[in-house]
Amino acid sequence: MYDNNNIFAKIIRGDAPSRKIYEDDFALAFDNIAPRAKTHVLVVPKGEYTDIYDFTANAPADLQIGFWGAVRKTVDTLGLGNNFRIVANTGPGAGQSVFHFHVHVMSDEKFKSDF
Ligand code: 5GP
Repeated sequence: MYDNNNIFAKIIRGDAPSRKIYEDDFALAFDNIAPRAKTHVLVVPKGEYTDIYDFTANAPADLQIGFWGAVRKTVDTLGLGNNFRIVANTGPGAGQSVFHFHVHVMSDEKFKSDF
């Protein structure tokens, strides 16, 4: 069940602050308040979906396409080229703590050695 008082819904509405990286009709990208990598940005769709499982089942096609396009534009805005990682924690057991679908876009030279 989606709760529209979650922190990302507040950020999208402008009720909570964020450092914006990219925005269009489909998505908003902003810096993670507690970065775990040199570059660590969150991209959230403008729609009420709890996680990637909900989003891919229930979001209209234009929003799904627009969201992934916004992820790509975020990567381009950050100048990450082909050197980045995308993570979508799904469910509390996987570490999801905000239940508005989001992807983490991260880049750090340390990634080269940890997989
Ligand atoms: P999750 O754990 O759900 O995959 O990711 C949630 C992320 O949101 C965490 O990495 C956390 O640091 C970030 N976060 C939580 N609250 C805020 C906030 O108020 N502003 C920003 N910019 N990021 C937040």
